[in-house]
Amino acid sequence: MGENIIPLVDWRQDLPLPDPLAGAAGPLADRLGRPLHDLRISVTDRCNFRCSYCMPKEVFDHQYKFLPHSSLLSFEEITRLARVFVGLGVRKLRLTGGEPLLRKNVEGLVEQLAALRAPDGSALDLTLTTNGSLLERKAVALQRAGLRRVTVSLDALDDAVFRRMNDVDFPVADVLRGVDAALAAGLAPIKINMVVKRGTNDHEIVPLARHLRERYGAAVVLRCIEFMDVGATNGWRMDEVLPSAEVVERLSAVFPLEPLEPNAVGETAQRWRYRDGGGEFGVISSVTRAFCRDCNRARLSTEGRLFMCLFASRGHDLRALLRGEADDARIGATIAAIWNQRDDRYSELRGAAGPGGPAGARRVEMHYIGG
Ligand code: SAM
Ligand code: SF4
Ligand code: SF4
Repeated sequence: MGENIIPLVDWRQDLPLPDPLAGAAGPLADRLGRPLHDLRISVTDRCNFRCSYCMPKEVFDHQYKFLPHSSLLSFEEITRLARVFVGLGVRKLRLTGGEPLLRKNVEGLVEQLAALRAPDGSALDLTLTTNGSLLERKAVALQRAGLRRVTVSLDALDDAVFRRMNDVDFPVADVLRGVDAALAAGLAPIKINMVVKRGTNDHEIVPLARHLRERYGAAVVLRCIEFMDVGATNGWRMDEVLPSAEVVERLSAVFPLEPLEPNAVGETAQRWRYRDGGGEFGVISSVTRAFCRDCNRARLSTEGRLFMCLFASRGHDLRALLRGEADDARIGATIAAIWNQRDDRYSELRGAAGPGGPAGARRVEMHYIGG
């Protein structure tokens, strides 16, 4: 059996669905009192990049079996589920993957989701995370379909470093043109996610921040993310994590900074403002400062499994419900029961367990449930 089969072994087995929660209606609270607010939807498990921290080439090679099209939730199924989630309190939807812009006609899905409304009639916060490779081509269509914002992943400004990190020799200039196109289409402000690996791209933090400040000012917000131990294939090592405190130190040595208050409860980033008015940046300290206490996110995999945590090893098969007899009320009551039982707080436990993290089952891969 090849190495590329390993991630399939147990994380595609399901947890049993609990009995529906009688009379369930939002707002819900899990066992730690956390509401359900944010749903991340993975629309494909495929990607045209092979970032070593997410889909290393040695594992995700031509032999790797991605999901067949018939396994994927259709746009109608995703929209139906999203509507049920909105009824349970979700107000933010993020499309992700894999690379979401690889899903054929993803703007058609955006259009359906953009038409959903919260019970008070307000629009949802609808966004998408992309590696930017197809953004130049798709930005206008996405905006017209009703997308409000976009997050672009970009790990370096230097072309050679960027090509090495995406590991498919993709040029940085194409992603930067995608950012320009998204801004021109009105998808502002744009967040730029930079995963920082010590010794690989940490020397790119200041150049990238400088470039974004000078070119875009407040219209683009850089967010440095600590390299996380997601999945089981990315060869994570603590000594490759650059703690966010060091990121802030390095940036404040060049650009004077002041802290900003969080925008919303459950916000993952700690925010800073450039004192000269050049905009803001943020850090996401998933490793050194666990934020599980406020975690209000659920994740829906490409084939309709619901995961309660980025580090979960198993999910709940909602597709079986969707394709069975269950009506929306029953699906909603089942999701409510799942959320009710939720006690996940992996990052906190990892912090308590020290290097190596908590022992446990193999974790789901990030391209499958999205970031
Ligand atoms: N392909 C899209 C992209 O790269 O933006 C969306 C999916 S990707 C899995 C979502 C986010 O997760 C990206 O910003 C990516 O950089 C981040 N990510 C992936 N693996 C990570 C890791 N090991 N540690 C921290 N962030 C990671
Ligand atoms: Fe693809 Fe995004 Fe993962 Fe990179 S981080 S391999 S772009 S899914
Ligand atoms: Fe949420 Fe799990 Fe991340 Fe904690 S480790 S913040 S519970 S996704």
